[in-house]
Amino acid sequence: MVQRTNRRWLIERILEALPGSMLVTDIDRTSSGPGSYVLLLHLQGKLDFTRGSLRHTFAPGWYVYAGSADGPGGVRARIRRHQRSNKVIHWHIDSLTVVADAIEAFVAEQGHECELITSLVRSGIFQSALRRFGSSDCTRCETHLLMVRAPHCTALSWSSLTDSRGSLGPGG
Ligand SMILES: [Zn+2]
Repeated sequence: MVQRTNRRWLIERILEALPGSMLVTDIDRTSSGPGSYVLLLHLQGKLDFTRGSLRHTFAPGWYVYAGSADGPGGVRARIRRHQRSNKVIHWHIDSLTVVADAIEAFVAEQGHECELITSLVRSGIFQSALRRFGSSDCTRCETHLLMVRAPHCTALSWSSLTDSRGSLGPGG
């Protein structure tokens, strides 16, 4: 129940920060053309992540990721893949999507993944979750993975806040 409230609050904040984006409510009716998208995902427990030189323990909570898809099936196929828990780990984000207990998706057909990240950070709600995550080939962004900024954690009822507080990062 708590998680449902948080989810709705975050969905509203993301839609506000990204005019022109749409929450995916029916994947079958989502565009199969190229475009950018945002994922809102929830980790119930902490996650130890290691990929090359990137090493991090993600605290339980909500994360936001931006990407783009221009291959066969476009954004629809890509979001379907993200929402499947059984898959071969290929991208950084796959390590989170295989264990996430909630994944919402937003499509921004005209948007650019880097601009989506910039707008989300500008909203004041989100900050970098881990440098160079999902942005290895991006020269613009520090990361393509965000988490909720500490001041806003109080707006959410984080059931796991007490035991994860120490790992929320600077200011957490
Ligand atoms: Zn970028």
